[in-house]
Amino acid sequence: MNRREFIGRVATAAPALGLARQAAPTAPRAIIIGAGLAGLAAAGQLREAGWEVTILEARARPGGRVFTLRAPFSDGLYAEAGAARIQDSHEYTLQYVKQLNLALDPFWPTEGHSIACVAGRRIRGPQGAPLDLAQVPLDFTSEERTMGLGGGLVKFLFSHMAAIGDPTAPDWPTGDVSRFEVPIAEFCRTNGASPAFVKMVALGHDLSGMSTLQFLRDTALGAKTRQWFKIRGGNDRLPAALAATLSDHIRYGAAVVRIEQDDRSVRVTSITAGTHTTISGDFVIGTAPTPLMAAIDVSPALPEATRRALAEVGTLPMARVHLQTNRRFWLDRDDTGWAATDDPMDVWDYTRDQPGRRGILGAYLSGQVAKDVTAMTTAARERFVLDRMERAHPGTKAHFEASASHSWIDDPWARGASAEFHAGQISRHLRALRTPVGRLYFAGEHTSPWTGWMNGALESGHRVAAALIARAR
Ligand SMILES: Cc1cc2nc3c(=O)[nH]c(=O)nc-3n(C[C@H](O)[C@H](O)[C@H](O)COP(=O)(O)OP(=O)(O)OC[C@H]3O[C@@H](n4cnc5c(N)ncnc54)[C@H](O)[C@@H]3O)c2cc1C
Repeated sequence: MNRREFIGRVATAAPALGLARQAAPTAPRAIIIGAGLAGLAAAGQLREAGWEVTILEARARPGGRVFTLRAPFSDGLYAEAGAARIQDSHEYTLQYVKQLNLALDPFWPTEGHSIACVAGRRIRGPQGAPLDLAQVPLDFTSEERTMGLGGGLVKFLFSHMAAIGDPTAPDWPTGDVSRFEVPIAEFCRTNGASPAFVKMVALGHDLSGMSTLQFLRDTALGAKTRQWFKIRGGNDRLPAALAATLSDHIRYGAAVVRIEQDDRSVRVTSITAGTHTTISGDFVIGTAPTPLMAAIDVSPALPEATRRALAEVGTLPMARVHLQTNRRFWLDRDDTGWAATDDPMDVWDYTRDQPGRRGILGAYLSGQVAKDVTAMTTAARERFVLDRMERAHPGTKAHFEASASHSWIDDPWARGASAEFHAGQISRHLRALRTPVGRLYFAGEHTSPWTGWMNGALESGHRVAAALIARAR
């Protein structure tokens, strides 16, 4: 059965999401670590197949890295701390959106102007158009100036995409991908990009730690995307609706600290308010991000390859700081609120399609600047981002009312935004991250081709549930 048929079969089973079947007395039992989208998807699939499931979730809410901030915003406004955008090629996410009767709005604006702040210059251009290099005061080669930003990205990066193979193949990467297992800047330079052009790649983000192979895989998987969406009312509506169908099977505030297994069963120990509880099952699915899976004591010890993969695969350092303003003043001058700066900072208007006159400009911070912001007090984060936002969108300070921030770096149950495979790590570790060890199976965005997306988390939950169902047959 291919992926599309599998999704189709899930779609026809939609009512089961709301009506979890009573498990038969002999039903196999799965214990799932984490009520993020991977854990919820796996649980839903297993319930549908008649399994007994228990989800142990350390937080007091479902959704993990899908987290919509509503406080302290006024007038019912909200903004995303985590997952924000859905691509029209993200079949798993869209299938759940449909099953759970959620409404979508377009994510990107299609009209107006966005801002780029590069090398001290503020450049305004049509939303969605590649930045005009003629306006950027950097030392590009004449070929780069002729090709423009879009042409250069194709030449130095995207034209190599086909050579990475099919990232959805179960045993990917298969061929020799060693030339892609280098940082993105190095890959671009090797292919002839000037230092000036390298600065323009992924403007607004610090992806310096990421392997080119991860970047190209993501680009390849998104190549067919034409439209982007967000969930009306906040993206947390998806995990909330999914968790509601599984409510009796979730234990919140239960932090898993130990997994024991033998050839017949598993025992999983969690701590709630200082009290240890051990439950037994037939299988366990770990969906926690790599640093948190690595921290769980597993007996017998995991194979060396699994231990190293969990310990070594990096996570993207990211933080979001959102600023509420008393008006969407940027709209007065036909700006969208979107901006990308070389500090670096990426800025989105979260309140497009939300009612009222107040607005929220959100700063997306990555790399060292995200680490710096994480170390600041709330008030200092606010001042830091206000200063930068004022340069991108003059008037922010005059209209500012309140801020909210979330750093994924010091979030105790995430320890980073999503998996960041450093140079060499996909080749070295991806297989081990996906390979079960006895009765312990691994899901989560980091195990999926769609790393860093809700789609990846959901796909991984389906993959592992299907493997368990097949094994128990
Ligand atoms: C800043 C940011 C931006 C993003 N942007 C997008 C986007 O635009 N579009 C998109 O589709 N995706 C985006 N994502 C990615 C998306 O949010 C994730 O890929 C997805 O939510 C991961 O789901 P998961 O189930 O794999 O992991 P998680 O959501 O992290 O779920 C794992 C769960 O395990 C729990 N847990 C951890 N340790 C333990 C333990 N020891 N015991 C019990 N429970 C534990 C955690 O609390 C968590 O609830 C973004 C993420 C971030 C952080």
